Amino acid sequence: MKLDTKIVRSSSIPDPTTGSVVPPIHQTATYVLEEVGKDKGYDYTRASNPTRALLEKHLSDIEGAEYGVCFSSGMAAVDSVLKLLKSGDHVVCSDDVYGGVSRHFNQVLVHYGIEFTYVNTSNADEVSLAIRPNTKLLWVETPTNPLLKVTDLKKMNKIAKDNDLLFGVDSTFSTPVFLRPLDFGADIAMHSTTKYLSGHNQIIGGAILTNNKEIFDKMKFIQKTIGAVPSPFDCYLTMLGLRTLHLRMKKHAENAQAVAEYLESHSKVSRVAYPGLKSDPGYNIAKSQMHGFSGMISFELSGGIPAGKHLMNNVKLCFLAESLGAVETMITHPATMTHADVPENERHARGLTDGLVRLSVGIEDKDDIIDDLEQALNGA
Ligand code: PLP
Repeated sequence: MKLDTKIVRSSSIPDPTTGSVVPPIHQTATYVLEEVGKDKGYDYTRASNPTRALLEKHLSDIEGAEYGVCFSSGMAAVDSVLKLLKSGDHVVCSDDVYGGVSRHFNQVLVHYGIEFTYVNTSNADEVSLAIRPNTKLLWVETPTNPLLKVTDLKKMNKIAKDNDLLFGVDSTFSTPVFLRPLDFGADIAMHSTTKYLSGHNQIIGGAILTNNKEIFDKMKFIQKTIGAVPSPFDCYLTMLGLRTLHLRMKKHAENAQAVAEYLESHSKVSRVAYPGLKSDPGYNIAKSQMHGFSGMISFELSGGIPAGKHLMNNVKLCFLAESLGAVETMITHPATMTHADVPENERHARGLTDGLVRLSVGIEDKDDIIDDLEQALNGA
């Protein structure tokens, strides 16, 4: 089956008892055994649940992965990958990751003896130089949140294989419609399903996809042992959202391209980051490894912080809100919202200025989005 068909049909399996096209929600904590030692494949919902199993099948089908494991949030998925490591291990990580990821690494996991080095993974030499004898994991986000830096996954895979590292990619911004990290040799593709995959701001969730049975077995063990599992209802809502992923991503990308070009030509905008702009440093790599440039843009205004705040406070159609990847256009101030826990000096060192504005371009009519930005930029 082609990708579009898998997106629509992978979890559309009519219920054998009723013929219901939409899969039922198995909202249950436990399951009755036929006799001691004999169940129907399910014994307790923390360990497994039919609705969750269907979502895991759906996600692994569209990622082109053998196995999928779902979690109650993207952060729970990241945390579960890090649980593959032990005290004394070292991680090389993209320097511009989502603020919640660096908060977890720097304020929680360091206390368990795991060490982290952040590098610009767009530069393969920096990655090679950061590797130590105790490095066990290379963790890459592409494009990054919020600066949209693109990483060459072929180069990362070579470094990972040459140094015997586990190679994981947070592909939340790309989705399987535009990027398949496993095809580039990654061991793990990770998503916050909160974003594009569910697509309608309706749930918080996460997923790990892999072709490696050993990693899958460990992930399943961590999932059932720690219990950071999504509810059956959230799995059901995610599956409904997933069915239109290909259509939504096409529209997100079309709209984002138009909005990025509009912003780039605007006299009040000093810098635009969008991998689909020819002027963007990540354009060539993104074009070669992605099937589209997705829907995220970040930009800065020539008027700096006051101008950025004016814009964000004066949009009418765009929602001033955390999160991204939903049908509605959302505007965010990373320095005080998504990345507020990244220390100021670190934020500035990586180019995440206080004036940076992040836009998750939705699937409304692009002219309405541009008109809204135009009216809010007036006076900025
Ligand atoms: N990874 C990326 C790239 C994100 O943007 C986010 C959240 O914004 C996460 C991971 C964490 O996902 P969640 O909010 O579902 O825990």
